[in-house]
Amino acid sequence: MNGTTADESKKPDLKIKCGPTSWEGCAEVECLQEGITQNEQLPSTINDVELPEWKRILRESLCYAKDLAERFGLSPEEESEIREVIRRYPMRANPYYLSLIREKGDAIWSQCIPSKEELQDPDGLEDPLSEERDSPVPGLVHRYPDRVLLMVSNYCAMYCRFCTRKRRVGDPRKYVPRAQIMEGIAYIKEHREVRDVIISGGDPLMLEDSQIEFVLKKLREIPHLEIIRIGTRVPVTLPQRITPELCEMLKKYHPLYINTHFEHPDEITEESGRACGMLADAGIPLGNQSVILKGVNDDPKTMKRLMQKLLMIRVKPYYIYQADLTKGTSHFRTKVKESLKIIEAIRGHTSGLAVPHLIIDAPGGGGKIPILPEYVLSVDDEKIVMRNYKGHLYEYPA
Ligand SMILES: *Cc1c(COP(=O)(O)O)cnc(C)c1O
Ligand code: SF4
Repeated sequence: MNGTTADESKKPDLKIKCGPTSWEGCAEVECLQEGITQNEQLPSTINDVELPEWKRILRESLCYAKDLAERFGLSPEEESEIREVIRRYPMRANPYYLSLIREKGDAIWSQCIPSKEELQDPDGLEDPLSEERDSPVPGLVHRYPDRVLLMVSNYCAMYCRFCTRKRRVGDPRKYVPRAQIMEGIAYIKEHREVRDVIISGGDPLMLEDSQIEFVLKKLREIPHLEIIRIGTRVPVTLPQRITPELCEMLKKYHPLYINTHFEHPDEITEESGRACGMLADAGIPLGNQSVILKGVNDDPKTMKRLMQKLLMIRVKPYYIYQADLTKGTSHFRTKVKESLKIIEAIRGHTSGLAVPHLIIDAPGGGGKIPILPEYVLSVDDEKIVMRNYKGHLYEYPA
């Protein structure tokens, strides 16, 4: 029996991964076997069949370097490099998202599998958008006149290697306590100019339905709050999380908008299409924000196809972003000129509905700035000279 006592076998198995997230985060910091992971609260006594599908999928996630080595056969050197990365920036590669990988190093792989380059970025910024500076209360960012960002969760169904909030997502020591959310809600209540709240994180849909509903209900009690938005990547990385029960609950809190985050046409699958369809059927308008990432989607053809395919699953492209200057993500960065070429290749060449705004979120908290290709060649008192999407010139009286 290898000296195992009855008592020891009753201890919760801290190696059980990726159970439901709780408000209070990870009480057992000792469970950080390879540094930072996520809270792992799932008691080993819970029977598999009682768990919803999305939690079963999450529980099977690869979170450690040794998991990757077993699955993909890394050399000992590669394994130890990846272990170092995970110590700093957690990994959670869930089986659904992993199943979309076609080959090592493809667009799906680079989004979810750590790379040693994450630790080779001396010039990157921890908090590129100075969100901490614009936080009047912890977990709330108030940068624009009439809307705020409210973080309600620090966990995600998959940790994107390019994440802007890489400095904190997935770190159980930075979990979002319930009291902090209440403080954020109180701030919104006191600030009558706030008519729009974006519930963000981490991923808000990593919370239990009842926890999400608690937040929505509290927010809807605020008379001056007009619209609620949820920012979530769950429809892409764990579409099984979108259940009929979740949709029934969400639709009680209209006007409610969801922005999701597809990066590549390969992420549009039967499952993610179904998830978006269910949300759309619940009356929730869906938008999409993508980041332009080197080796993932940084060419006009891929991006145009992604925008078209989004429309087929009833998602309206909203923004595409130049990547932020986040520390640990320099290997994903592209040139602004190339981004302009992408937007030029979409505008006019396909449905206007497929054209998002190209945005640079200015470092230091300047906020989102739209970047446009030049269509106006000159304008004076007499006329405007413009070019169309094919480059032909036209005049119009000013
Ligand atoms: C992106 C963002 C918003 C929302 O911007 P919209 O252009 O209205 O979508 C609000 N607050 C912060 C801090 C943001 O980063
Ligand atoms: S889902 Fe969003 S918050 Fe979470 S890791 Fe990905 S980009 Fe970051």
